[in-house]
Amino acid sequence: MKNQFEETLYDAHGQIFSIEDVYFEDKSEHQHIIIFHNSKFGRVMALDGIIQTTEKDEFIYHEMLTHVPIFAHGAAEKILIIGGGDGGMLRETLRHNSVKSVTMVEIDKAVVDMCVQYLPRHSQGAFDDPRLNLVIADGARFVAETKDKFDIIIVDSTDPIGPGEVLFQLAFYENCHNIMNDNGIIVTQNGVAFMQPDEVKNTHKCFSQIFNDHHFYVAAVPTYIGGDMTFGWGSDSLQHRKIELDTLKQRFEKANFKTRYYNPEVHMGCFALPQYIVDLTLPESS
Ligand code: SAM
Repeated sequence: MKNQFEETLYDAHGQIFSIEDVYFEDKSEHQHIIIFHNSKFGRVMALDGIIQTTEKDEFIYHEMLTHVPIFAHGAAEKILIIGGGDGGMLRETLRHNSVKSVTMVEIDKAVVDMCVQYLPRHSQGAFDDPRLNLVIADGARFVAETKDKFDIIIVDSTDPIGPGEVLFQLAFYENCHNIMNDNGIIVTQNGVAFMQPDEVKNTHKCFSQIFNDHHFYVAAVPTYIGGDMTFGWGSDSLQHRKIELDTLKQRFEKANFKTRYYNPEVHMGCFALPQYIVDLTLPESS
């Protein structure tokens, strides 16, 4: 058995995890999947050699990609999750009683099945929630063909490598825009800006052509190495990002659930970007 996992996302820099136990390792029809135990981060999943999620720090990423748009929106009932096969995004979305339905479009059923079995703390039964409509399909194709409309779209994809590549293209974002209700919001997994600046440039280039309001927000996720994890934000409403702290506090209190990273003050602060990320959105940087 291998006794360490070396992430292969970057050539000249990376991270190594000791492996105390391998729960699952195989190639699905879409990607290589490994789920193993690491003494520091608990159970860890990697796809095609890239760390996706760990038990220890997943809450940061999943809370920030759900509660920021849902509390900003204030009346979101229909949510679309693209990707998200480990179930953490679904778990956090379903904590909102205001959410009436979640459509989750995941390309790889093996990821869902293996995460339910070997990463149960991520979904915590969320896949059994009657509000869920699980679709095993390519997210890019789904948004191009669905007649449904959504208040919030959460793109919880892999990096723009392999099956995830289509989820970073203009056509995908334009199709997402077409299926958003008025005042809808799209948020995206947009990479670690310090290590993957082109992902911020690309999303800015696409979103600035599509949405009245487009920006980024950040949170540091330890196992997404290299600094702030960036999240893309797009909406035709200019109000959502101008929300008052008191309004957020009222909505958070009414939601009545405990978080470990998200709170209204973090929400207000997360849109303040370091200058090097702002600079990536300037015309001369493209
Ligand atoms: N938190 C992770 C990150 O930031 O990279 C993402 C986690 S989640 C496991 C990523 C999911 O996107 C995977 O389950 C993968 O199968 C799915 N995925 C990749 N390409 C897809 C596509 N074109 N349509 C739908 N799901 C896709």
